[in-house]
Amino acid sequence: MTGLYERDARTLSSMSFLRFFPQAVTGGEGSYLFDEGGRRLLDLSASWGAASLGHSHPAVRLAVDRALSNQAGASHLSGANLPAVELAERLLSIVPERAAGRVWLGHSGSDANETVARAVIAATGRPRIIAFKGAYHGGTVGSMAISGHPAQEGVPKAGGLTLVPYPNAYRDGGPEQASARALAHLDELFAGPVPPEEVAAFFLEPIQSDGGMIVPPLDFFRSVETLCHRYGILVVSDEVKVGLGRSGRLHAFEHLGIEPDIIVFGKGLGGGLPISAAVGPAAIMNHRAAFSFQTVHGNPVCASAALAVLDTIERQDLATHAARVGHHLTTLLEELKSSHPLVGDIRGRGLAVGVELVGDAKAPARRETAKVVYRAFELGLVLYYVGINSNVLEMTPSLLLSAEEAATAIEILDRALADVEAGRVADNVVAGFAGW
Ligand code: PMP
Repeated sequence: MTGLYERDARTLSSMSFLRFFPQAVTGGEGSYLFDEGGRRLLDLSASWGAASLGHSHPAVRLAVDRALSNQAGASHLSGANLPAVELAERLLSIVPERAAGRVWLGHSGSDANETVARAVIAATGRPRIIAFKGAYHGGTVGSMAISGHPAQEGVPKAGGLTLVPYPNAYRDGGPEQASARALAHLDELFAGPVPPEEVAAFFLEPIQSDGGMIVPPLDFFRSVETLCHRYGILVVSDEVKVGLGRSGRLHAFEHLGIEPDIIVFGKGLGGGLPISAAVGPAAIMNHRAAFSFQTVHGNPVCASAALAVLDTIERQDLATHAARVGHHLTTLLEELKSSHPLVGDIRGRGLAVGVELVGDAKAPARRETAKVVYRAFELGLVLYYVGINSNVLEMTPSLLLSAEEAATAIEILDRALADVEAGRVADNVVAGFAGW
């Protein structure tokens, strides 16, 4: 019989999933995935952070089941309903006051960011948006138009978009220098080609995740916020990947010491179900330009799952848990560093961790990174890579990851790194898997 992976490759567009290795799963529980052969794989990605409570969490299952069985018919899937209203109330109660206006519900990080981009331009009457080089805000035309990730090269950008450098302490001579350089660049822009009074919003990722899990220098975003306030520019925090507990705080922007005007949630919000939210001032979120009537927006099934996720994060204080286990994970990684020349930098906050793999003079070890990911998969560990040079291992596991699971993951990674460093993984094994 043909295997599931072969059936997948013959039917699904090779552009609808990133394929790092021949994986097609049949199930999952907690921090583990199962494949067709019954193999258990420790999942250090949790589907890029979407499975925030791990796979098949009982609270999410119960919420979905209740929502499905309580609704009278399919028509209830569309329009205002109890879980959607409760979710909106809940989100408004956890954001800073300046953002606590209205909640726009969508299906993905992409549609929420895209809607915000349209609405801020229309509501302020300012034509420009600033975002970062390396930023990934989504995969729809509008969200790609405010992104700066090289994987999307060739996609036309929004006319009014200006991309600025994200400060990278590892590559730009340490945090102070990286921060000073990026701020000087902004000053130059505002003094010349980009009049600040024409800028509607500044989109930021509190950790630049798909760009390489880059943690910004302390105080950098405070300076950005000061500039934005001076010129009346709205600050948008894209919390899609690292928000809602993952960073060790409820909101990742809390680490930056700022209070954004608009906050975008996605991925982990639904615990695996498709739901996103943009929360911001009523004048923006109620603006006609935020119009985007998609038939099952805010449906009770996904909204119920999101409520269960938020409940669980709060009740079990998963932000603190993520901080604790994340610290354990990075400590183990630091121990591993001395015995692996490939490991250049380890960075992150809570359970959003990146490991940059390099060769001589910090040259991005792109091919080796693909091999490590492939070899780890063979050894029973799922993790992917990110970064503008595709050389950063990304760890965004379940927020419920245990210290023991973290230790097991690092043991496997240790072996995978050793195998690649010793040349035991052939070049051709990664040739058929594109990654990005
Ligand atoms: N924003 C950020 C910060 C992301 O990491 C991503 C996805 N990697 C998105 C937006 C897009 O979210 P989605 O894939 O749900 O559309």
